[in-house]
Amino acid sequence: MKMKGTYDKVVELATRRGFFWPSSRDVYAGAPAGFYVYGPLGLRMKEKIVSLWRREVVFPEGVHEIETPNILPLKVFEASGHLEHFFDKLIECKRCHSRFRVDKLIEESLGIEENLEGLSDEELMKIIVENGIKCPKCGSKEWTGIKKFNLMFTLAVGAEAEEPNAALRPETTQGSVVEFRKSYMTMRGKLPFILGQVGRVFRNEISPRRALIRMREFQQLEIHVFFDPDNPDEVYREKLEPYMDYKIRFLRREDRETGRIVEMTAREGLETGYTINHLITYWLVLYQKFFNEVLGFPLERLRYRELIEGEKAHYALAHWDLEVYTEDLGWVELVNNAYRTDYDLSGHMKVSGNDLRVTSPDGKRKFLPHLYEPSIGLDRVLFHELMLAYREDGERVWLQLPRYLAPIEVAVFPLMKKDGMPEKAKEIYRMLISEGFIAFYDESGTIGRRYRRMDEVGTPACVTVDHQTMEDGTVTLRDRDTMEQVRVRIEELPAKLRSFIYEGKDIKDLL
Ligand SMILES: [Zn+2]
Repeated sequence: MKMKGTYDKVVELATRRGFFWPSSRDVYAGAPAGFYVYGPLGLRMKEKIVSLWRREVVFPEGVHEIETPNILPLKVFEASGHLEHFFDKLIECKRCHSRFRVDKLIEESLGIEENLEGLSDEELMKIIVENGIKCPKCGSKEWTGIKKFNLMFTLAVGAEAEEPNAALRPETTQGSVVEFRKSYMTMRGKLPFILGQVGRVFRNEISPRRALIRMREFQQLEIHVFFDPDNPDEVYREKLEPYMDYKIRFLRREDRETGRIVEMTAREGLETGYTINHLITYWLVLYQKFFNEVLGFPLERLRYRELIEGEKAHYALAHWDLEVYTEDLGWVELVNNAYRTDYDLSGHMKVSGNDLRVTSPDGKRKFLPHLYEPSIGLDRVLFHELMLAYREDGERVWLQLPRYLAPIEVAVFPLMKKDGMPEKAKEIYRMLISEGFIAFYDESGTIGRRYRRMDEVGTPACVTVDHQTMEDGTVTLRDRDTMEQVRVRIEELPAKLRSFIYEGKDIKDLL
């Protein structure tokens, strides 16, 4: 069913119908890549994903959501290690001076998809020389040595600043870590204490690519669980209990070669020590369930890839990427799940000289909490929703999105522009808006074309006013996926639409 080529079709559809498009390019052809505009449909979908995340994660897990600035002092990133460690390896063509990310240059020249992040400069250089890799721009084989390129955008804040003294944050984490002590006291916290942030982050990628997959400005949904390393499980023992037999899908480091995915129950993860403690195991379960059951990604397309030395972020003791598979893009990371220990807090304590420790409930210990962080890349999630929803059958193209994620929930049409049908349809449209639905009214073109336009943006339900409506007060309700239609009384429409869109009822069960 899923064919190669979906990627191009999704990008074309998204641009044409107003989900997203590259920023400024329409007017300024040379505008830098990696920045995107969200049009009305994409923005609405993005908001829906965020609100589902709040409903399923933030509220039930007792997360304190905060919002910290995009610009933070450079000191913060000295303490977090980003100044020193947050770079990509870059190589320059000696002839035309084009610069490339070393791993991408090798991957693309040799047509391989291996992960090269763990290799040293010498090993990378050896691959380039031995394979005679040429500059993709001018064909030269003369390269400079490999250099580090820091991915942070730095800025000089204030009229007096001569040198950069701040940076656009490359992750929301540092805002939460720096504000941990203040938040903890303000909210009379006890451990585990959880902060959450929805925010924009900025990375000066050497080669942004693949639409929303690798951008220079993007959005994260981050959870920051601060906990007592001597007592991580108190709360989570009980929380995990109902899910002990739930199977988490892992690509362990030892299975890297074969690509074999191991399904490990939460119990096995704990007993073998692989998932470290109840707290981390619980969050691994929660996020796999969220992506599968709420965002609708099929289980067989999801896995947690264990990162190995060299790939792991500089701050992480254990690190899994929750990835999704598509035929076009292969496995792509959607959630970065890192056990950061007290790396961040102790860095800030050292650099600032402030005591950031907390006291144990019995008053006997002072210690730095540890941090576990699942961090969602929101734009990638949205993009993969579209990739996995894309369907075509001859002329017909439709997005089989989970109904409640559709940017337009219900469209209302008059069959013809006469006999009072438009007036009746507009009345129904206004009624549905006031009932809280995201509704859309359309009377232009043939009814077939109007259905097709709605299919293409994933609208799950279309309501049509026809001659019979004027006689008996019923309308047709059409299902996007099966194209089946049923007749529904106007006054029953809101309740029936609710069970169709939000509860996943079959259209036949609405009768
Ligand atoms: Zn060149």
